[in-house]
Amino acid sequence: MQNIHQQSRRNFLSNTAKLTAGSALMASAMASAASISIRANNPPTQCADLNSIKSINAPHYLLRNVRLEDGFEREGETVIATKTSLYQLEINNGKIVAIQPANTAADNTLPTFDARGLLLLPATRDMHIHLDKTFYGGPWQAPRPRKGKTIMDMIAREQVLIPKLLPTSVEHAEAIIGLLHSKGTTVARSHCNIDPVSGLKSLEHLQIALEKHKADFSCEIVAFPQHGLLHSHVDGLMREAMQMGVQYVGGLDPTNVDGAMEKSLDAMFQIAIDSQKGVDIHLHETSPAGVAAVKYMIKTVEQNPQLQGKVTLSHGFALSTLHDAELDAVIDGLARQQFSVASTVPIGKLAMPLPQLSEKGVVVMTGTDSVIDHWSPFGTGSMLEKANLYAQLYGNSDEFGLTRSLAIATGNVLPLDDSGKRQWPAVNDNAEMILVDASCSAEAVARISPVKATFHQGRLVFGSIQKV
Ligand SMILES: [Zn+2]
Repeated sequence: MQNIHQQSRRNFLSNTAKLTAGSALMASAMASAASISIRANNPPTQCADLNSIKSINAPHYLLRNVRLEDGFEREGETVIATKTSLYQLEINNGKIVAIQPANTAADNTLPTFDARGLLLLPATRDMHIHLDKTFYGGPWQAPRPRKGKTIMDMIAREQVLIPKLLPTSVEHAEAIIGLLHSKGTTVARSHCNIDPVSGLKSLEHLQIALEKHKADFSCEIVAFPQHGLLHSHVDGLMREAMQMGVQYVGGLDPTNVDGAMEKSLDAMFQIAIDSQKGVDIHLHETSPAGVAAVKYMIKTVEQNPQLQGKVTLSHGFALSTLHDAELDAVIDGLARQQFSVASTVPIGKLAMPLPQLSEKGVVVMTGTDSVIDHWSPFGTGSMLEKANLYAQLYGNSDEFGLTRSLAIATGNVLPLDDSGKRQWPAVNDNAEMILVDASCSAEAVARISPVKATFHQGRLVFGSIQKV
């Protein structure tokens, strides 16, 4: 990709070598930058000075000196600290098969790696991102001014821009996968444009990128009619996309873009029902029309129970306009129909009722949305940062609140349950995990502590580990 040479060195390093692993470019870059991570499926490499391993090929190995959370320390009823100690984990074929105290006699026949006391946390999940149309991996480029621009103006901009992005969209998607790895994410859900200017090309390119990373990254795809399902007449293309292995039917602002709320939502749900897929709709509308759309979707799922548990409301800003009894009623409806909500945890005027949703049993997920593209330049790709934002916005600054805030970043997997009993990791859990330079999960959330190593299905996909 032609833009790599124009990047700053810092950006380049953070992209990781997955960007163009195997290319001549990376070969020379890796020779000059020993700290870059390498692809998980490359032969093990060893730095002579530090015994630092950047890939683990053995499916069966020991990871020793791993810090796990043991429980809460209380002062009266109040959680004031998190107790931890060191353990030895045995990993086999992507699973954690044994968890023992650190002083247990090691099995000398197994390859052994030393986590040097770093904290083990569940890997994070980015459940709303657009891997298909990003500037990331290229030169700095701010979005054009958004003030006074409507979503229809943005769609017009996309019609010009998308064809220009397509030639390098595979490489850019791979660059973001490398960024996500470096932040601790191994599982994602990516929206992908299905629009008249790119047809199914964006999807094809995204699938090429994901195929290249199938060993180190798991990603569901949402076919996203960004230019309007009805407005851009892509019903047929969406149905073709369903046959290409995507998992979700996307949707977009049925009133502001399609100008026909019920007709647009009916068309979206019909594709999902016909193809037996789930739904993940972008709903930005904050007008009463947005609330009406949420209520109409709840009613539709009620009437079509095969959709229960399969519908995600992305953004759902309309919920931030509701209060008291009306908000409770809508949240009850979302919970009854087993909706999930994907939120970027917006800051500013809109305060999403995320804790209230969680309390009523609605699964709340978070995601990056844009890393850097024509919509926003502010994404870091860090789900720990989203947990931090959540903690700040909803007043979770104490030890217990900080630990609970991690849930939106990890798909609700937390090391300790509310009573302080360890629930993760457990024997037979997937080895989907990160090593973080923090003393406990509360510190990791509050300080957005650096991720030192990321494991997907037991494979080291980012960072390094000490070979013993
Ligand atoms: Zn989005």
